[in-house]
Amino acid sequence: MAQPKLNTSPKVADEIRQTTCYMCACRCGINVHLRDGKVSYIEGNRDHPVNKGVLCAKGSAGIMQHYSPARLRAPLLRVGERGEGKFKEISWDEALELATSWLAPIRANAPEKLAFFTGRDQSQSFTGWWAQAYGTPNYAAHGGFCSVNMAAAGIYTLGGAFWEFGSPDWEHTKFFMLFGVAEDHDSNPIKMGLGKLKKRGARIIAVNPVRTGYNAIADDWVGITPGTDGLFILSLVHCLFSAGKIDLPYLLRYTNAPFLVNQDTDSAEHGLFLRDENGKELVWDRVSKTAQPWDAPDIKPELQGSLTVNGISCQPVFALMAARYLTDEYAPEAVADRTGISAARIRSIAGELARVAFEEEIVLDRAWTDWRGQKHDKMIGRPVAFHAMRGISAHSNGFQTCRALHLLQILLGSVETPGGFRFKPPYPKPFEAHPKPHAKAKPGQPLAGPHLGYPRGPEDLALSDNNTALRIDKAFTWENPLSAHGLMHMVISNAAAGDPYKIDTLFLYMANMAWNSSMNTAQTMDMLRQRDENGEHSIPHIIYSDAYSSEMVAFADLVLPDTTYLERHDCISLLDRPIGEPDLLGDAIRWPVVEPDRNVRGFQTVLLDLGARLGLPGMVNEDGAPKFNDYADYMQRHERRPGIGPLAGFRDGGAGRGRGAPNAHQIDAYIKNGGFWSDPIAPENAYFKPWNKGYQDWAVERGLFDVPLPYILNIYLEPLQKFRLAAEGKHAMQPPEHLRDRLKAAMDPLPFWYTPFGDSTTEYPLHAITQRPAAMYHSWGGQNAWLRQIHGHNPLYLPQNIWESHGFAEGDWARVSSPNGDITIPVARMDAQNSKTLWTWNAIGKRRGAWALDKDAPESNKGFLLNHLISELLPQQADGHRWANVDPITGQAAWYDLRVKIEKTTAPAQSRPLPDTGAQDSPVNGAPSQLTYGKDWT
Ligand code: SF4
Repeated sequence: MAQPKLNTSPKVADEIRQTTCYMCACRCGINVHLRDGKVSYIEGNRDHPVNKGVLCAKGSAGIMQHYSPARLRAPLLRVGERGEGKFKEISWDEALELATSWLAPIRANAPEKLAFFTGRDQSQSFTGWWAQAYGTPNYAAHGGFCSVNMAAAGIYTLGGAFWEFGSPDWEHTKFFMLFGVAEDHDSNPIKMGLGKLKKRGARIIAVNPVRTGYNAIADDWVGITPGTDGLFILSLVHCLFSAGKIDLPYLLRYTNAPFLVNQDTDSAEHGLFLRDENGKELVWDRVSKTAQPWDAPDIKPELQGSLTVNGISCQPVFALMAARYLTDEYAPEAVADRTGISAARIRSIAGELARVAFEEEIVLDRAWTDWRGQKHDKMIGRPVAFHAMRGISAHSNGFQTCRALHLLQILLGSVETPGGFRFKPPYPKPFEAHPKPHAKAKPGQPLAGPHLGYPRGPEDLALSDNNTALRIDKAFTWENPLSAHGLMHMVISNAAAGDPYKIDTLFLYMANMAWNSSMNTAQTMDMLRQRDENGEHSIPHIIYSDAYSSEMVAFADLVLPDTTYLERHDCISLLDRPIGEPDLLGDAIRWPVVEPDRNVRGFQTVLLDLGARLGLPGMVNEDGAPKFNDYADYMQRHERRPGIGPLAGFRDGGAGRGRGAPNAHQIDAYIKNGGFWSDPIAPENAYFKPWNKGYQDWAVERGLFDVPLPYILNIYLEPLQKFRLAAEGKHAMQPPEHLRDRLKAAMDPLPFWYTPFGDSTTEYPLHAITQRPAAMYHSWGGQNAWLRQIHGHNPLYLPQNIWESHGFAEGDWARVSSPNGDITIPVARMDAQNSKTLWTWNAIGKRRGAWALDKDAPESNKGFLLNHLISELLPQQADGHRWANVDPITGQAAWYDLRVKIEKTTAPAQSRPLPDTGAQDSPVNGAPSQLTYGKDWT
């Protein structure tokens, strides 16, 4: 029989252009195939250090994102009410003149009346620089909503954090534990890493209330109760202490475990380190029996006991640790019920950790020299590694929980040692090398320094002379002193309430605050619509930039349409979040592999244009003319410090690495190199980086810092104690009365566990959480014709015990209530989850009319958000105060603290979930019912 003639290798491209994916935050390298000037196919770039050719489903579906019908087509001016989605198209000149007419008077009179917040943009070093030049203190990205507990705990404790700043040693680790990791953030890199572990037979334990994604392929799944990770981790610490399975030489060499802590409770320095006349922290030398600076040569520091030094009673940090973690409070039997993990299982995991760490140590035959000049002929490590993300972070006890996990890593000697956790350059970097926050606005002036930073004590808070918040989000105040990423989630509620002051313009970029990027969606929509007693909007102006017709677009007064990620220049910079790996330094670009076919502009170029119109320093020449033609020009010519610019590669005419004069052909060089630049780290410098002289000298050469920055790991975090002392009345700066007890309790310099604030209720016995689907990145995927087929709607998943005890059957609906409201939604059964926990996919549900979806689209008729049950504020306290629903140390949104109850109910009218947030008009045309390549993909 004649076989049909098939072309098994059709020509898919006339040309391939290499750039960086932006279908999630992983920054994989991609080859974009073009045919007849259109994107025909996307594949992974095999030479790229992040993904080495691997491409996930999201990445290849980028073609549908690029040709999405939801793309905005021109600048828009609101003509209806906020939220209606009624706009008229205007020209770019009209749009920029209008924006300038709002922004210029604010800058001249009261720059703090501009609140400029960005979402998941990857140009924060640029947007922050712009906001600093403008002079508003009110700038941050969405880290406070996402995972600042993880980032801040990592920076303060280790000098770096998981994910973008560090990675497990995939090549050598033998025992790997994941805590609270969904697949949206660390996608390809972690999948590739897990693949390596599986191939080598390494053991993987996943700790998560829900067994999906990575948790489903782990060797062992620990279905923990939400908010108790810290308790579980400290129970592991208890077991290690009890068994003496602690890497003492590591603690003595690389941590502050031997530092002497003042134990005189009457002292104004109680709980602080003892220091010599030069400010050096002291340890007790067992040989000379004297107190010595911690880095004095040939000393043998004491770890135990109580001492008196210079008349001050004191103890080493390690002795304080032993006293805390050996107590029964953290014994497995004491935490089993609470965590949902049996005592036997906790002991078994602790035993495995100890066995692999201490009996299967890794020895690499690499000589290296430490910063004291001591030579080591081998690199010795402990092959246990950990990775964690938002699941342990988005709780009101998240900062201390993340610190507890870092403590566990340190006790096992597995930070920056073979087989453990490794930093990605430009990390490691101690918190002292980061800036302090700046927030004092002056009319017509730039801010004195960066907005975000790492406070060392109360004197670094962003407070006025009257102790009021300088920032609209109240970051860096007594309510959340170490809010290193700001509190984007509090901006709209504070601005609507005029607390701590009223603002004039809310300027947002790529942040869907009217939908899934807010704690409570319906309330946030009301706040954006809210009018004062004069009938004026409480937030007078809203400017929004996005590439797509999101829910937030409908609430803007002025919309600045952005390009897709394939149409613009972008800079994945070492000044921000680059593409480095533990063995290499690297950064990358995006560039217009296709030109926009709509009246849209890259946001960063628009921001430079606005900056020039406003005459912002650094953005205009002496004659007032714009300094940069566009963002590409900025990427090549801007210098943050002499010789240091947004792009580290191909400086100085092409040969410069890290440092060097600007190069007018730098972007061309990146394009020629596949869209990225990388520089390998020599094997002898690739571990022990905080203490490795070779690494430190190399980092200075490459411009990561200007002098070597060796440091020790902070098991005991002294800045926390300074806030505690203030709460005890022992500091010149004093917190408000109602926060004293909270500060005393939360700001403990040694990691501990406390009950999440949301758990104070017995009326709501269940936990409710969301998981981000692997197939989508936040709300973007819901408009993507290919990805929509994976998740079009979302039920609430119930565990077997709740399913059966309530008599649920397939197709049933439930009313789920929290202290903040209720939702009526479809339910489904899933047995692989914690027995007290309900969960659903995040951001699948959409508002009707948004994202160019059809009026019958499942996303906006069957999908729902859990956010309606959460609030920015906790219920009123006995003293009348309502605290923000955040971690009291960092201000991280505590949306995984949510407690609920559930009852069976009937389906609402039209079987549409409640609450119904109504519909918005679409400023863009809907999608064709059938897509034809070359016809509709334009
Ligand atoms: S992991 Fe993220 S960056 Fe990498 S290909 Fe997938 S979507 Fe793109």
